This record gives sequence, C-alpha cells and structure tokens, in this order.
Amino acid sequence: MPHEDFADLTLFITGPTWLRPEVRRAGMLPEFGHRDSEGNKRFVPIFEHLRTLARVGEGWDVMLFNGSGSTALEAAIRSLVADGETVLNVSVGAFGDLFHKMAVLNGKKAVQLKFEPGRAIDLERMEQALVEHRPAVVTLTQNETSTGVCNDVETACALARKHGALPVVDGVSLFGGADARIPESNPAMYVTSPQKALGLHAGFGIAFVSAEALDKAARVRNRGHSSDILNQLNTARKSQTLTTPNCGLANQMAVQLDYIVNVEGVENRYRRHAVMRDMVQAWAARQSGFELFAQEGFRSPTLTTLRPPQGMSVADLKKIKEAVRARGYLFDPGYGKLNADLEAKGLRPVFRIGHMGDITPEMLTGYLDALGEILAAR
Ligand SMILES: *Cc1c(COP(=O)(O)O)cnc(C)c1O
Repeated sequence: MPHEDFADLTLFITGPTWLRPEVRRAGMLPEFGHRDSEGNKRFVPIFEHLRTLARVGEGWDVMLFNGSGSTALEAAIRSLVADGETVLNVSVGAFGDLFHKMAVLNGKKAVQLKFEPGRAIDLERMEQALVEHRPAVVTLTQNETSTGVCNDVETACALARKHGALPVVDGVSLFGGADARIPESNPAMYVTSPQKALGLHAGFGIAFVSAEALDKAARVRNRGHSSDILNQLNTARKSQTLTTPNCGLANQMAVQLDYIVNVEGVENRYRRHAVMRDMVQAWAARQSGFELFAQEGFRSPTLTTLRPPQGMSVADLKKIKEAVRARGYLFDPGYGKLNADLEAKGLRPVFRIGHMGDITPEMLTGYLDALGEILAAR
C-alpha cells in the first residue's frame, strides 16, 4: 500500500481535526482486553476526565457509545421519546435538521422549528412552538457546525422546562473547546464527539445522562439494544463500553484527556479557543469584501463562517481549497448543502475556518497568512 502518498495536511476543517504528534503516537500503544484490568487503566481515567470537563457530579452517568456523535444523538431520541409524545426539533442548520431526521426515521411524532441559516434560536418563536405543540422532549444544537452559530442553550433549556419538556442538547463541536455549561443548562442528556474540539479521531458518541433521563427511558418502549441508555448503564457504571471499543482510539483518548485536564488545563484550553475566534474575526475585518456570517453575539469559539466577496462562487472556493492544499493545509469550502441552497437563491456561499481541538494561535496565524496571500493573488 503506497501510504507515502497520504498527504500530511494540517486540517483547518471543522472535524475531523488536526491531531497532536503525541496523540498520533498514542495510536501505537498496545491493544488490550476491554473487560480486563488493562482496559480499566484506560477507561477509568477517560470517564473521570470527561466528568471533569463536563463539570457533572454524582447525579449523572457518562456513556461512551461505539459509533459517533450521531449514534448517541439517535440513542437520545430512541430512549427519551415515548409513543404518542411529540418531540420538538429546534434547528438553526444542518445538524439541527439531522436531529429531526433521526426522530422522523425512528417513527417518532416530530415537529421541526427552523431558523434562517446564520441566525441563532429566537426564544420567542421557540416559546410559541412549545405552547402550540406541547412537546415532551425538545432537541437543541449548541454549536451549529454548518453555520458557526453558538446558541444560548442555557436559556433555551430553561424555556423548554418551563413548558414541561425535557431538553436534549447536541454539544458536538463545542465540548472541549469551551465550557459546555451542562450543570447550568441541566439538559436531560448532552451528547458530543471526540473528533471535534477534543482533538481526537472519531469513533465514540459521548453522552452525559441525567437521572431524569434514566427515569424517562423506563417509560419508553422499543429503545433498541445499543441505542438504549438503560442497556448501556451497567457497563457505563463500570467505566466500560457496551460493545467492543476501538482500542487505538481508547489509548489516544486516555493520553489526550490527561493532557487536556492535567497539562494544558481546561481554562487555558477554553481561553485559547476564544483567542483564535478573535484572531479570525480580526483577520476577516482586514480582508476587503469578507463578512462574518453568524449572528453577532452568537459566534462560535471553535469555528468561524465567512461570506466571501460578491462574485466568488462555490467553484471559486473549491479552487482556493486546492491552492491552500499546495501549502500543506486542508481548507473548508463550506457546508455543501447550505452552499447549494444559498447559490440556488442567488446568494453568496459561506466558507468555514475550523479553529478547534489542538490548533494553536501560531498555527492559525500561519494558515491565515497563507490564505490571505492566496486570496490576494486571485
Ligand atoms: C459533527 C457533528 C455531528 C455529527 O457527529 P458525528 O460524530 O459525525 O456523528 C452532530 N452535530 C454537530 C453539531 C456536529 O458538528
């Protein structure tokens, strides 16, 4: 296999993300038995560090689903929405839409509340939908990766509860890059993935599950096997996975979470992400004709979305991607479906700069300089 041909690009996309050399090397650590004491050496600290990052206490269970973030999102739908109940899927973009699709495909009675791309949740409209549809469960996206909008899920969760609904939060692409505010938001379940702001490969859906969610699941039929949070509980409480985990990823995760908590420090990590968001915004202000896409006050700390100058098409962005590749980077020309919809309406496309995981401000400076030169030479 000619793996010498695999390019070693620095990923500035929005997941998967660039891995630190130490994390790459951890992929070479020994395989192990996942019910053996060697498994505990990896997974007990993994579960503990996830709790530290989430700031959740005794009343919460941590679960690692084999699969990806989507697997755990689907488990939330299957475990928490009972027959005859309504789930309200609040969407500000493609990942909010995905949550709705999962509810529909699992046969749940689902209503979608959609907002314009680039806009955050409008709480007044959300309240109207809660009054109108009386949902038992509400799904929310914390950091909408297709548009770069970071919602105020703390207020949205409180609003859902005011109307008697259990809130569920998709925190994929934020968790590990900023404080997820889980105890303050108090969702019934919070889901994330390793391959975004945690700086790891994909392979697990990570879930923080409240006692309330476990109670609710007991009253829901047909939860499936691996999608059932009650079925996951016994192994989760032993800091294990229900089904065989990816040992390579577990080794890397043990090393990486220890680094995040004990070496970099959680607060430093969050600060670094906020600094990088500000750097990209300052860079964008220096490029003529570029505009920030996400609503002011709701701009993500882990990725930034930008509208290029008038006249620049998706095809142009794809050409830029190839020029950037020649400099050793992977450029993100935007979320495909969003750009197809925007172009069909005669609107400018949106491209993204992922600044999550272990990307440093120095790396970001190098990337923005290269991108600026390529844009200036057009
Ligand atoms: C990437 C992403 C997902 C999907 O996660 P997978 O781990 O790819 O299944 C869901 N929601 C958001 C907000 C995402 O960014």
